[in-house]
Amino acid sequence: RSVVVAVDGTSGSGKSSTCRAVADRLGLRYLDTGAQFRAVTWWMLRHDVDVHDAAAVAAHAGSPVLASGTDPLAPSITVDGTDVSVEIRSDEVNAAVSPVSAVPEVRARLLALQREIITESTGGGRAGIVVEGRDIGSVVWPDAELKIYLTADPAARAARRAAENGGSAAAGDAARVAATQESLLARDRIDSARAVAPLTMADGAVHIDSTDLTLDEVVELVVGLVTE
Ligand code: C5P
Repeated sequence: RSVVVAVDGTSGSGKSSTCRAVADRLGLRYLDTGAQFRAVTWWMLRHDVDVHDAAAVAAHAGSPVLASGTDPLAPSITVDGTDVSVEIRSDEVNAAVSPVSAVPEVRARLLALQREIITESTGGGRAGIVVEGRDIGSVVWPDAELKIYLTADPAARAARRAAENGGSAAAGDAARVAATQESLLARDRIDSARAVAPLTMADGAVHIDSTDLTLDEVVELVVGLVTE
């Protein structure tokens, strides 16, 4: 029997690392829906669409051609055939992705794509998929066998993200950590307040706070819940 694991939560709570490791351990595919929203955002910026003009974003919602690679050890995302895995992590995309993601036409378009990928990964005797995002357990796949709501203290999140981005938080790059924290919190505010598919804990989700846990500990917890 195939399995869908839905992992939602706040920005920088460790979703991606957790989901990739869980998928690798259990032989499942992996879908990063945040990368899809980022790729659409990258396309809008690239084509000079005003990301704060919802009508303009909506008019172009169907334009970018997206493809997601679902290998947990080498996830990828292409737009119009170009791999943008690196470009979608820029400060410009970080600042623009939440307003773009709040546009219903963008969500509708990606929802269809996400359900297609999940259906492909669960049909024909395939093992299943770990899907990460903000609305997977609530909207994209409410029938998921396991739903996780992953959060972490904002300061811990910012320190981790700043370290990932090249600085050593421990070395005391306080300004970088503060800027990262502000960016994460700004995204969470918009993602939680939007009218369509806001970030919330889905019915039946298990809440894991990763603030005081290592990545391995979170992975063990989730793997245990899947195989239980
Ligand atoms: O997960 P990640 O931080 O890469 O997601 C980037 C942004 O994409 C989020 O801040 C949110 O605005 C949007 N997103 C969303 N729904 C999802 C996944 C991501 O709205 N399922």
